[in-house]
Amino acid sequence: MTENRTGSPLIDGFGRTIRYLRVSVTDRCDLRCRYCMAEHMTFLPRAKIATLEELAIITERFIARGVRKVRLSGGEPLVRRDVLQLTERLGRHVGHALDELTMTTNGTRLRDHAAALADAGIRRLNVSLDTRDPALFRHITRHGDVAQVLDGIVAAREAGLQVKINMVALKGLNEDEIAPMLAWCVAEGHDLTLIETMPLGAIDEDRTDRFLPLTLVKERLEQRFALTRDAAGTGGPARYWQVNGTATRLGLISPLTANFCDGCNRVRLTTEGRLYTCLGHDDQRDLRAALRDGGIDALDAAIEDALRTKPRRHDFRIERNAAPAVARHMSVTGG
Ligand code: SAM
Ligand code: SF4
Repeated sequence: MTENRTGSPLIDGFGRTIRYLRVSVTDRCDLRCRYCMAEHMTFLPRAKIATLEELAIITERFIARGVRKVRLSGGEPLVRRDVLQLTERLGRHVGHALDELTMTTNGTRLRDHAAALADAGIRRLNVSLDTRDPALFRHITRHGDVAQVLDGIVAAREAGLQVKINMVALKGLNEDEIAPMLAWCVAEGHDLTLIETMPLGAIDEDRTDRFLPLTLVKERLEQRFALTRDAAGTGGPARYWQVNGTATRLGLISPLTANFCDGCNRVRLTTEGRLYTCLGHDDQRDLRAALRDGGIDALDAAIEDALRTKPRRHDFRIERNAAPAVARHMSVTGG
């Protein structure tokens, strides 16, 4: 089988080894979070979506070439009908060539799928939860029901999955909920990662109005919680703090106030089968076309080509009336 052929490690033009692939399995979503999408989003026509087989072959090629961690994301990964088959197939590599298969989800469908995800080999999930307040949740997501997500988190725990909460810090919207969210995470035994809103894709609002620097958030949290820096790196964008005396780790993803690109070990595959080597740039290679035209050798060549031009860093800025850093939304590249 093609996926068993080994290949040379994935090293970019700045000597960074790629060990982490994020796969956006769909650009569609059942929510419309205000900072992520416009209310009337246009999604890709189904004909443009890579098949499960294509996504699996491409992902397995990355695994054969040294990727140790795969995250399935979206859009909302659990709205794609065949995502569980993909999860099961990739899950077979866990404990062998793959250290971890994981997923980022909005949690609305977790009650139905948590057990199957655990059976497939997933051990940890990121669940996005910007507030536990039902009315505010409905406002931020434009129509979501927070009870469904909270129940999904319970289902995930029942299935033995470890849950990390992702929360985008939004000025004037959920900023008063950040400390209570951390307290809740401590009580429930979840880790919490806070994220600065990033200028990805056009939305119906000006992101400047909602931008809340995490430097300020951290100062506020320290009035209530004792935090100790945890220097253990993940090669990812988050910096971590232990909440003293608890099992909870606080992660801060601050692309605007603290650039994290030097140790970047990741690339992103879209649901169309395109490879983006940086969240903040438009360069991409069509890996599905390469695979269709020339099989694994052409796929390898396209991956090499993409890695050679992986940018050194993103250049995010949030400025009033400025165009987004890139036109595509986080839901296309997989957050
Ligand atoms: N639908 C799933 C979810 O919400 O978890 C997975 C995809 S979503 C794009 C992944 C993560 O990106 C979520 O935690 C979401 O809050 C975050 N996100 C989306 N748009 C963002 C933006 N413009 N800036 C910062 N974070 C964003
Ligand atoms: Fe959907 Fe996730 Fe974007 Fe919210 S953040 S609209 S749940 S993709």
